Amino acid sequence: MDLYHKMESNHSCRNCDEKANYLMMTPIGELGFCSEYCFAIYMDLPVKEEGYYGLPKAEQSDVE
Ligand SMILES: [Zn+2]
Repeated sequence: MDLYHKMESNHSCRNCDEKANYLMMTPIGELGFCSEYCFAIYMDLPVKEEGYYGLPKAEQSDVE
């Protein structure tokens, strides 16, 4: 069994398994989130309305 079957090449939300709509560049690499809700949960931040944190949208230039 491969515990790391979801690697960087296929961005998915860090908090759930949805497709990442937001992508954050951090010192430890890219973190993807499907919504600011998941971002807040994962980062242990208060959940605010969508757009509050102003996360950068993931580039969707590569469509499968
Ligand atoms: Zn999510």
